[in-house]
Order: sequence, then C-alpha cells, then structure tokens
Amino acid sequence: MLQKNLEKVLRTTKKHLGKLSSLGVNTVKDLLLYFPRDYNDTREFTKIKDIIPNEVATIKGRLTSLFNINTKFGKKITRGIFTDFSGTIEIVWFNQPHLTRMLPRNTEIILSGKAKTGFRKIALQNPSYEIIKPYEEQIHSGIIAPVYHETEGITSKWIREKIKPLVDEWLSFFEEHLPEEILKEHNLMGIKEAIKNVHFPESEKKLLQARERLGFDELFILQLKVLQRKWHWQHATQSQAKNIEIKTEILKEAIASLPFELTNAQKKALKDVLEDIKKPYPASRLIQGDVGSGKTVVAALAALNVVKNGYQVAIMAPTEILAKQHYSTFVKTLTKYNLNVQFISGSTTKSMKDDVVRQMKTGTVDIVIGTHSLIQEDIGFKNLGLAIIDEQHRFGVKQREILKSYNSPHLLSMTATPIPRTLAIVVYGDQDLSVIDEMPKGRQEIITRVVSENKRKQAYQWIEDQIAKGRQAFVICPLIDESDVIEVKSVIQEYAHLQEFIFPKLKLGLLHGRLKQEEKDEVMEGFKNNKINILVSTSVVEVGIDVPNATIMLIEGSERFGLSQLHQFRGRVGRGVYQSYCFLFTGNLSEEGKTRMQSMEKYSSGFKLAEIDMQLRGPGEVYGIRQSGIPDLKMASLTDSVNIEKARNSAAKIIEKDPLLKNYPKLAEKIPEIQEVFIND
Ligand code: ADP
Ligand code: MG
Repeated sequence: MLQKNLEKVLRTTKKHLGKLSSLGVNTVKDLLLYFPRDYNDTREFTKIKDIIPNEVATIKGRLTSLFNINTKFGKKITRGIFTDFSGTIEIVWFNQPHLTRMLPRNTEIILSGKAKTGFRKIALQNPSYEIIKPYEEQIHSGIIAPVYHETEGITSKWIREKIKPLVDEWLSFFEEHLPEEILKEHNLMGIKEAIKNVHFPESEKKLLQARERLGFDELFILQLKVLQRKWHWQHATQSQAKNIEIKTEILKEAIASLPFELTNAQKKALKDVLEDIKKPYPASRLIQGDVGSGKTVVAALAALNVVKNGYQVAIMAPTEILAKQHYSTFVKTLTKYNLNVQFISGSTTKSMKDDVVRQMKTGTVDIVIGTHSLIQEDIGFKNLGLAIIDEQHRFGVKQREILKSYNSPHLLSMTATPIPRTLAIVVYGDQDLSVIDEMPKGRQEIITRVVSENKRKQAYQWIEDQIAKGRQAFVICPLIDESDVIEVKSVIQEYAHLQEFIFPKLKLGLLHGRLKQEEKDEVMEGFKNNKINILVSTSVVEVGIDVPNATIMLIEGSERFGLSQLHQFRGRVGRGVYQSYCFLFTGNLSEEGKTRMQSMEKYSSGFKLAEIDMQLRGPGEVYGIRQSGIPDLKMASLTDSVNIEKARNSAAKIIEKDPLLKNYPKLAEKIPEIQEVFIND
C-alpha cells in the first residue's frame, strides 16, 4: 500500500512530481519518510506592540485593510493593516497582487516574518501567512513547523500541505519493524508515532523522542547490514580455515633483534593481529596509528609469523615510493630468516613481473610487496594467508575486495588517519579496530609556528642555515582550486620563484601529480640521497615518505588544508635525530581558521587534532564521508556516539543469535533499503 505512486495520491502537476522524483521521492512511503531538516518554532505569538525590527515575529490577528498599489517602476505592492489586541502594524508584500483576493479581512490569520523600518515607519515585509480555519489543525504557524530541504518549486509550505493529509490517512499502514525487545530496551517511540511527530510534533519532548527513535533505527539497520555481511563472509569462507599458529619463539627472537624496543601499543596491536590469524575464518582488522607510530614493524612481524606457518603474505601500498620503502624495511627486518621477498609495481618490466607472478602462483614467494599491480587480473597466489593494506583510506572498497578474493586471507589494514571509534563503527563496521596511541620513546617534538608574512625572509634564512648544516626541507603548495591544472601551475611557479630568487645556490626538486612515475621516483631518489636540498611539492608528498635528514616542513596556504592533512605533512619531518620545524604560512584567516592553526602549534597528537577538526568542520568535511545513495543518513548523526554504541550493541546481539534474521523478517526486509556510508578519498 505504502508503495503507491504519488501520482495517484497527490493533487499536483507533473512538474512537481518530477521535482519530487529528483529528490528520490516517488511513493507515499518516500514522502512520509522525507524528514524535515529543521523546525520553525512559531508557537509563541508576538504582540504587535512588542515587535522588534529585523527579528522574526509571528503574530496572530486580523487584516483590517488590504489593497494593491502599482509603483512607477512597474512593481506591484500589496499593502495592508494588521491588528491584534495590542496594536496595529503595516504589512507589505512585493509582487503578490493575488493576495488581495486570497486573504480574507476580519478573519484570524497568522503572519510570520521580519519587520523592517521603511521610509516612514516599521512594516512587516513579505510575511508567510496561514489562515486559521475553525476546527482545522494549523500546519504552518503557531506550531513547531517542519522545514524541509527545498528545491525550486518545492517549498516547505508546499511539502507541509502535501504531507499533512498523507500523515492523517496513511500512517496506519506503517508496521513496526523494530522488535519489541529493542523498543523496550532503549525505551523507543513506536514507528507511527515517530513519523507523525517528526513532521508535525505535538510537543518538543515528542519531537526529541521521534528523532531519537528514527536516528537509532537508521544506525541499527546499518549495523545489522554490516554485521550480517561480515557473518556471511566468515561463514562462506570457513572451510578455508588457515590454522595459523603463533610461533612464539621465533617472534621473541625477531623482536629481540630489532634495533629498538616495541612500544606497548605496538605489542598490543601485534597481539591483536596474531589472535586474528589464529581464527578459523578470515579476520579483518584496521590498525590506526599516528604518523611515525611504527605500524610497519608490526606488519612485518605478523608477516613473519604467517610465513613461518607456510603461508604467503601480500602487502599493498598506494604509491610506488611507499611500496619500495616497505620493501627495504621488510628485507632489513627479516634478513636473517632467508625469506623470498619480492616487489612488483607499474614500472616492473614485463619479464620480471611474469617471473614474480609465476613464483607467487607456485608458492615460492613468501612475501610480495607492491602497488595496485598486486590486484591486477593475472595475479594469483598459491596460499595467501595474510593480506596487508597500508594507508587503506587511499584504496576503495573494491580493491580490498579483490585482495580478499585470493584464497580468502586474513586482512590487515593500516591507516594514519585517526577516526573516532564511534565513527569507525559506522564506516568500517565490518573491521575490528586496534589503535597505536603511543609514540616510540625519545621522539622529538616538532616545533610548529604560524609565520606571518613579514617574517617570510627570516623563515627562508632559517632554511638556508639548516641546509648549510646538511639538513633538507620540504615546501608544500596548496590546492588553489579543485582542478589540478591550476594546482600544478602554482607549484611550478613557486618552484621557479624559489629556485631563481630565493635559493639560487641550492638544488631544488619539484614533485606533483602530473609527473610521470619515473620522474617522481627520480626526484624522490634525489631527495632521499640528499642530492636535492629542498623539495617543492603538492600534497602528493603526504603519504608515509621517510627521509630522516629532512628537518623543515614549510606549508603555504595552510588554512586550505584539513588538520589531519597538515599533521600528515608535518609527520614527514622529525623522523631522524635532528630537531625539526614546521612553518605554517596562511592567507587571511577566519576565526575557525585561526583556531585550527593554533591547534597545530599546540598539539602534536594526530588523534587530538582529528577530534578538534571534527568539532570544527563535522565528520563529512574531515573524512570525505559520502553515501552510496542520494539521501544522507536522514536522521542519525555521525557524531551521536551514544546512539551509535547502542545500535551497534543491539545489532551485534541479534546477529549473534540469528545471523540470517529468520525470526526477524521485518528487519530482514529493511536491510536492503538502508544506504551505506563510506569514506572516499
Ligand atoms: P608509520 O606508523 O607512520 O607507518 P613507520 O612504521 O614508518 O611509521 O615507523 C616510523 C619510524 O619509526 C621507522 O623509521 C621505524 O623504524 C621507527 N620505529 C618503529 N617502531 C619503533 C620503536 N618502537 N622505537 C623506535 N623507533 C621505532
Ligand atoms: Mg606507514
């Protein structure tokens, strides 16, 4: 019934129906589930004598006169006098001459709008109106009125008028889909009452309860979906159990031979991963750890354990530079175990690649490290036990799925972008989470300063002095525009300017996304070997590059970057024994911009900065969160940690006892309806 097309129900034009359709609203149900984005509380009427200019006032009274005036400039003005028990005020509408016909005199009307001081006196300009009809509910004013997302031709007023009769007639067809136990446990409002009150709240309290119910609902179904998918995956692949045991002796020895001691957080993360790979189904874990917290060594030790059980390991990184860096770390860390470690990327020659792939398929390769090349068609493994994805936010869900499709390995993802736990539950719900929240001992603090334009010369002088001492520097240029053409132009100009006028005696390198892979590699090699003193780059340098000799990070237009990204840049220095510096240049700063820059000076923890960024800009902006359909999460907020936890726990309980939702057919029906949320970079 609720699936009935609106065409058959609403009295309206084709054009309006088309507009609704473009909002994803086609059926009665769609429209009833088209929730308001806000509310206008106009329950309190202002007395006319208390009206204050430029403030919205809602007044109840009668029109005592109303007439049209044609102005010299061809405009039509409708003027009237409105009166309540406390006084009178002039009303003015522009270009709506039909109002003289529509609005009755001496009948109760509610007007809502801003009073402005005109030539002579104060007048209420272009107010919205609602005629009070005896025995009929008001739907625009004098209530907590819903405000909807509007598009051309579809105003909140129009929507209210269409939704009101639907609520009255069709609500009874909605069936409760949340199980009794859940409603009771969380003390939630029933679905009918919630839908009614979200559109036309009876009171503030009921509105809150309605929103809470609908928000929980959304998160709960989302969690059911994610957890059910996880269950299916584990169930389907159970037969491929890997039986990977923990080789305690080997690991102890490997850890003892490291040139440093593992932090407690690293030990804990390693333990989590080892527990995962013991499981009789493929585990999936995300390790979050700040830049430089030492995720790679955790991955290497886990890999060693897997190889010692006779399985293969694959490590995929988003760039060639990073993949190479991992390759050398792995070779160095695991050198005495005589493992067969191979590397492939886009620039590997065909014959080399063919050879590595053959070895992967026959099983003679123990560990293969590479870029996207690892998920191309001709790739295969004999017995992949563990797949590791570094900087996982750089890859899409699809790419992760391809890796998982080879022998259903255990999956370990790593990221330096910290995501608050509750948000991770929503966007990475099918992964378990480990957090490396501790830096290796003796890490120096990077001195961070916002530098004003008149200190620019001094900053350059500072760089020159550092380079004279043998150090190196980065200069990062911002994204001026979405199009990378302009971005590239600005970085090229900056590079030319610095080389010619500021540092003529030094060797500068240039890095941006438009360079060919070989060109990038050449520049990076040059920088790594200190053949290049200053690397001028766009944000491509962001990800995980390790050049311990670099001690200065200078960022132009810092306000254009998010805090997490600035923190990533800053993490490129301070990786060696030398004191390091981060200089932030900015354009004009908004208040928010100032707060963000000060936060960079004050905090060195990426987690803390991410939290601040979330508060200032919201999760959508910070993490590039998108949904796979048009409507966003309609009701739930991604920052509502209480509801998220509740929804997660309730969903987990249900999936645990009834993964296929056999006893919950109404919930099962809801699952395909919910839009998933994901992070896209
Ligand atoms: P990230 O977590 O950003 O990927 P890396 O794994 O690249 O960090 O580690 C950064 C640097 O820290 C590397 O040079 C690594 O050898 C070093 N490192 C890792 N763990 C420790 C530790 N426990 N103590 C000292 N240095 C460490
Ligand atoms: Mg890393």
